[in-house]
Order: sequence, then C-alpha cells, then structure tokens
Amino acid sequence: MIHIIDTEHPWDVFSINSGHTEVISCLEWDQSGSRLLSADGDGQIKCWSMTDHLVNSWESILSSSLDRDPIIALSWLHNGVKLALHVEMSGSTNFGEKFSRVKFSPSLTLFGGKPMEGWLAVTVSGLVTVSLLKPGGSLLTASESLCRLRGRVALADIAFTGGGNIVVAATDGSSSSPVQFYKVVVSVVSEKCRIDTELLPSLFLRCTTDPMRRDKYPAVTHLKFLTRENSEQVLLCASNQTGSIVECWSLRKEGLPVNNIFQHSPAVGEKQPTILKWRILSTTGDLERVSAVALPKLPISISNTDLKVTSDTKFCPGLGLALAFHDGSIQIHHRLLLQFMGIYYSSSSSGTRPGDEATLKRQRTSGPFLHFKALQFSWTSLALVGIDNFGKLHMLRVSPSMCQVLDMNTTLRHLLFLLEYCMVTGYDWWDVLLHVLPNMVHNLVEKLHEEYMRQNQALQQVLATRIVAVKASLCKLSAATAARACDFHAKLLLIAISSTLKSLLRPHVLSTPDKSPGDRLSEICAKNTDTEIDKVMINLKTEEFVLDGPPLQSLQQLIQWVGDFVLYLLANLPNQVRGAGHTNLSPESRSIDGASLGMLREMLVMIRIWGLLKPGCLPTFTAMSDSQDSLQLLFRLLTKLWLCSREDGPPQEPDESLIDECCLLPSQLLVPSMDWLPVNDGVIVRLQGKIPLKLQFGKASSLPGAGGGSPLEALTRSPGSQKMDNLRCVFLGVCPTEESKACTRCGCVTMLRSPNKTNAMKQWEQRWIKNCLCGGLWRRIPFTSCSR
Ligand SMILES: [Zn+2]
Repeated sequence: MIHIIDTEHPWDVFSINSGHTEVISCLEWDQSGSRLLSADGDGQIKCWSMTDHLVNSWESILSSSLDRDPIIALSWLHNGVKLALHVEMSGSTNFGEKFSRVKFSPSLTLFGGKPMEGWLAVTVSGLVTVSLLKPGGSLLTASESLCRLRGRVALADIAFTGGGNIVVAATDGSSSSPVQFYKVVVSVVSEKCRIDTELLPSLFLRCTTDPMRRDKYPAVTHLKFLTRENSEQVLLCASNQTGSIVECWSLRKEGLPVNNIFQHSPAVGEKQPTILKWRILSTTGDLERVSAVALPKLPISISNTDLKVTSDTKFCPGLGLALAFHDGSIQIHHRLLLQFMGIYYSSSSSGTRPGDEATLKRQRTSGPFLHFKALQFSWTSLALVGIDNFGKLHMLRVSPSMCQVLDMNTTLRHLLFLLEYCMVTGYDWWDVLLHVLPNMVHNLVEKLHEEYMRQNQALQQVLATRIVAVKASLCKLSAATAARACDFHAKLLLIAISSTLKSLLRPHVLSTPDKSPGDRLSEICAKNTDTEIDKVMINLKTEEFVLDGPPLQSLQQLIQWVGDFVLYLLANLPNQVRGAGHTNLSPESRSIDGASLGMLREMLVMIRIWGLLKPGCLPTFTAMSDSQDSLQLLFRLLTKLWLCSREDGPPQEPDESLIDECCLLPSQLLVPSMDWLPVNDGVIVRLQGKIPLKLQFGKASSLPGAGGGSPLEALTRSPGSQKMDNLRCVFLGVCPTEESKACTRCGCVTMLRSPNKTNAMKQWEQRWIKNCLCGGLWRRIPFTSCSR
C-alpha cells in the first residue's frame, strides 16, 4: 500500500493498493509533487500521477521492471533547474541577489535543449537502469552494470553534477570494503537509450583504519550524498548492534605527488597535474545506534564558510542534518562539520523529562522503544516528518535558529527570507507558517510588501498573485488579521476576473493598435478621473467590446460578484475607516489598495458597455427605488475612494462626505453578505500553540481551537447555511450533491465537474484546473463532509 496525505489535512489519507508484490524499498517525489516513483524488492518501478489534479487521487501510468533484482536507490533525472539560496546576501534588497539560478545541466536534453524526463535506479546486483519518458508518453528503458566485476550492492545513492552527469555511490555493506563511486552518462543513440559508466575514486571509512575503532562498526548502514545536486560530499554511517559513527567526506583536487627525478624537469610553470581524492571532513564520536538519516533540502551553497555564515546570521535552516536513534531521540548535526546543533526526544522514548509519569508507565508495558524508521525534511527544512516503528506518522517543527534565543527582528528576518524564497521558487510555504506566531503576522506582511515593492516591474508582475496568496495565509494565523485574509482572497479573485474579462476584448479590425484593448482600457481609466461612468465610457472604442456568440451571459455570475464586491466594499468603508482594526495600517499595504480599486473601476466600465449590448449580463442589485442607476452610483463612490488612494498622489484618508454617502448605501441597495469566502478547515491555524497535537487517520479534525478559538472561527458559517462554489460564484445548496474539490491551502471550494457548456466559462474553469486561485493544490472533498 502507498498512503498519501497533504500536510494541511493529515487525517484525510489516500491509500492506494500499489500492486507491488514485494516490500517497497524507495519512494521519490518529483519537484512539483504531482508525481511519485515507487520501487520494490522485486525490481518493479512504478510512476504515479495525480488524477484530475487532485492530491487525494492517484494512479500508476507507467512502470518498468528488472526481473527479481531488488531496487536500492531511485531518483528522477535532473531537469537542470537549480536555484541557490545566498544566506550571506539575506540583507540585500534584490531577490536576484538572494536567490540566483545556478548553471546546472539537465541529465539529458532533447532537441532544442528541453530536459528529458525520466528516472534512474540502482539494484542489489549492481545494475543501473534508466527509463526515459518519451514525448509521446512511452518509456525508453535500458540497463547496464555499474562495473565489469559485478558484486552485491547493499546501499547506494544517486547525485548529479553541474555538467549533466550522474554519480552513483555504492557499498557492499561491509565497512572494511571500499565505498565505490561511478560516473554514469546517459545518452540516446539511434532511438535507443545508452548508458556508459566509469569508475571514480573510492574511499575507505575512517573508522576502519582508525586503530581505536577497528572492527567496532562492521556494517555501513547509511550512505547519502549531502544533496542530490552535490556529488562531491558524501555522508556515511557505520554501525554495530548498539552504536554508530557518522563521517562526512569531500572530494578534493590534489596535486599529484611528483617524483624527485622530475622535479628539475622543464615542466616548471606548467600547471601541476592534479587528481581527485576523497578526504574526510569530519566525524562524530561514538553515538547511539542510528535508525534513520535526513538531509536538508534547502539549496544553500556548500562551502567551508558555512560556519561563519551561521554565526554571522544565526540562520540555521538547511545547515543541519537529522539523525534518528534507536532510543527514539533525534539529533540535528551540522551537515559538514557534524557538530551537535539540537535534540528532540519523542514522548514515549525517554523518561528523563520531569513530571512525565504517563510516559514512564507506557515504557514498561510497550516493550521496544519507539524510534523513527524513516525521516525526511520539508523543502525549507523547517519541518521533519518521520514514521516510527509502530507505523505512526510524526511531524516535527525544526526551529530556524536551532532554539537559540534571538531578538524578534532576527527571527522575523529569517522567516521573511524563507517566505521570499518560497515566493520566488513556487515551493509551498506551509512549513514556514509553522513558525509564525500571531504577533509576527502584521510585521511579516508589511515587510514582505516592502521587499516586493523594491523589485523591478517584471518580477513584481510575475509574483503579483503569489505574494497576495502568501499574505492571505499569513493573515489567517492571527485573530487580529483574519479579516484581512478575506480581503486578500477577494483580491486574488479580483485579479483573476479582471484579466479574464479583459482577455475577451478584441482589437478592432480597422485600427492598428500598438496596445491591446485591455491595456488601452486601463490607460484611459487611469487618466480619466471623472466620476460619471458614461463620461469615461465615451473615450473607448465600443467596437472592441462587441463579442461574437453568447459568452457574456455565461460570465454573469462573475460579473455579479464584481458588482456585489464593490457594493460590499463601499458599504463597509465607514466601519473600516472609523473602526480600530485598520488604523495602524499604512495605506500602501491595505489589502484592497489603489491598484485593486482601479481594477474594479475598469471592470465597472467594461460591464457598463457590455450591458448596453447585452442587458442580461449586468449584475443585479436590489434597489430601494426603481429609478436609481445603481452602477453609476457605485462607480461614482468607487472613483472617489480610488482618487484618495492612488499611488501617484499622497495617500489620503477618504473624506467625510464620501463616508457619509457610503453610510447611506444600505438604505439604497441591499448589501450582499460575505458568503463567497472560503472556509479554512486545515490544521495550520491550530498549530500555533507549542502543545503537540494528536490526530487520527480517517477522522477529520475535531481539534479544540488552541487557546480559545481559532482565529477564523468567527468567520465559519452555521451548519445550515448555503455552501458556495467559491470559484464559479454560485450557490451549491445547503447539502451539495455535486462532487466537489477544495483547495488544500485556502479552503476554496468548487465543483469537480463543469456544469457549463459555454466556452467563456470553460476557459475560466480551465485556468483553475491544476491549482486554486491561491496556487494551492486541490483535494477531492469526501462525501461525508455534508453531515459534519
Ligand atoms: Zn486556494
């Protein structure tokens, strides 16, 4: 069986009957997390993919097999994308300096330089097998011996070089045998996959040559490259029945020992010949027996300045590796120097913690110690996930400072740095959120905004929606900012609807525009500050708004949302300005900022013109008097609000007359409720306390809101209320019968299958087929959720 869970809903486990007939020996995620490789003791390798882009729905589409040859190491081929993190530059304002793309060649390229996808595995009998995913969807597989004299391989690991080569490390499991390294080159020659191997320098463990420890640790139990992208540093662990020792080795260029005879030869001035040689970097003392090793994934450049950087910046994520021991404890050691950095005791393993009587009792009855069989770091190395010998899953927070007490500013800077990294790379920032305390949220949101504004226009545009999503998930963590999380969600929807509506505009045949109609609309709306919607409208070429076919009508629900949102925003303005919550916010960082207001204004103009062509697409408002032009009223107030929050002028508070007018709105129009907001049902908002949480598979969280109610509890709806399709902006009824999916990050709900037949709405749905508005992944909602 393979069990897959998303960290935000750990109780909702998706179990697949893997079809493997032997024990699964390796599991490997691809970079996007949408594919998984599994390999077993029978030589079977399977490639799993999400079906319908749902995290809780998987199927195996491809597989390869090596007859009865157990797989011991497995990896995806490298795609050539490598982004380095420069901790020493964390003070820089430029994202390009903090996170730079490293020149790294893919393992194999297709014509045109596109990286070829595929995987690579090493077997017990010393075979290396490569499967390439051909563009048509079929597999091209080949196998080759690592070396001519094939012997049993007990442990192996795979790494990649910047030049596009693959390096395999292998040992027969005895610490007195050498650890061998092989260069593997994969190529495609006349439609066939070809593998060439070459022997590289090998090494002997220090503990076997050390007379003090000779024969003390007979077995090599762990062999790992420090990272997949670094074939020049390797970590080795040798053990006996009760203890272990860990060594870190590095490949160095060294001058060839030159014979005396040649010393006065005319070769002076020529470059001295060099050879590659493994050198030991560091070793631990005798340790408790190691049960699992996890290496950090954060791509901090590996160098000997590591230690200085750590002491200068106090930044630890990505520098420590985790060792799990048979007594149940986990230690974090520096990955190169192997210095001790931190320790964790699992609750039932050690009786040393005072006052833990229940623990002591359990130890006597439960027999063997709880210890971790497998351990993995998250992308930013701020969380560790482990499986214990009882099959329980553990998620552990790893302090970014390794529990050194830091001042608030330093802590915030570290978290900010990692959030920026996730924003730039697109990695999920869930594990960073684990370390954000409610009192940090406000500061982090403001600082993130400041840093973002310092980037160039092009980069800002690329990150525009991602930063809103990060801010939204930050705001959810504190009761004080939970309402702003809703604003940020609204902004995401706003950006999406605006770009969709604008994309419908067609350039007129007779005009030869240098700008797209959408851009021209923005330009005209930005220049024309008139509060009369019709006066802004006459500047536009109405021909560009003429659409073929009936798509407008089908977008009515989105247009309605825009109308409702403007009304809601204006009607709530008096509360926002006069209420206490928002007064300490700088105007630039307000979630609904000048740019969003400008966007709304453009949309009202667009809707107005379309309404002339097709009245059926107009938003409907429940007005108190029949003669009232609601759209014009909203446009006028919106323009006034927009004018006092525009970016080119000094930010001003909305004047009293505007606020007075907004106060009157509820007496003129029926103000819609906030039903379109997604409900957050995940675990992250409950993880703020330091108290460990215990969850059960298959049982949705009935967690007590840590410390008196979770921040968002005020916003969850009563059980009898209507459910919403947050993406299509339609009601699903109190107990929806339609199968739905929800975002794993923001909780946004939408129907799995499209009820629409028109192209315009289909296009809108297509935009969200892989990811939610916020970039989060989808999960199928279990049918039982209605009865909850
Ligand atoms: Zn989402």
